[in-house]
Amino acid sequence: MEIQCLNCGTKSSGNYCPVCGQKTSTHRFTMRHIAGQDYLVSIFYLKRSMFTTLASLFTRPGHTVREYVEGKRVEITNPLSLLVVVVLAFGFLEHYADYHLMDVVSGDRELARNLEHLLAEHPKIFYISMIPFYAVISFLLFRRAGHNFAEHIIMNVFRSVVLVVLTVIHLVTGALVNNLAVMVWVSRAFSIMGVVYGTWLIYQYFSPFYRNKLLLLLRALTAYLLPFVLFVFGWVIVEAAKG
Ligand SMILES: [Zn+2]
Repeated sequence: MEIQCLNCGTKSSGNYCPVCGQKTSTHRFTMRHIAGQDYLVSIFYLKRSMFTTLASLFTRPGHTVREYVEGKRVEITNPLSLLVVVVLAFGFLEHYADYHLMDVVSGDRELARNLEHLLAEHPKIFYISMIPFYAVISFLLFRRAGHNFAEHIIMNVFRSVVLVVLTVIHLVTGALVNNLAVMVWVSRAFSIMGVVYGTWLIYQYFSPFYRNKLLLLLRALTAYLLPFVLFVFGWVIVEAAKG
């Protein structure tokens, strides 16, 4: 039986595509896939260049991720492995750099300052633990695309990867610049970049499914900001209950 390769489109009957080498059994992601061992074990086998993957994530994020989810997997690093690597790199830098995200926390109201502290202290925990919430929201907002929950998880893992990479660049910049007054502004610029990037990725990812681009943009912005707003809301309630 001839199967069409999801990566390059070649038809063949073997176990591997004769043109690009991807397994012909490549299929859609499921939750079992994400939890499954074969997927997690590959963390230690980053067979493709991480840098090629990061470069495409920074130049055409949504298209790269959608194509990956839909089956073009050969040139892209497994996102869960990538997340582990960038989080380890972040932890390493956080430990050794003279500059810390906490240094530029400057909210003038107590509540805002406490929240900024929390996020500056545990950015990687925040980025990782928020993935399921982001996936629920994007799953609900973009049902028309017909992607399953696992595929929304994968999409949001890629988003978290880039946000952690941006935080790594932020840390390195802080260590190089070595001037806190400047870094307060640089740090704001990085926050804005995070919002712009997250929205851009989601917008591009779902662009084939929505004709009305303004509505798509609003949905993308909502998908990016709503989980964060809900998080802040929940956090304020917990803080109020404590105090
Ligand atoms: Zn192929």
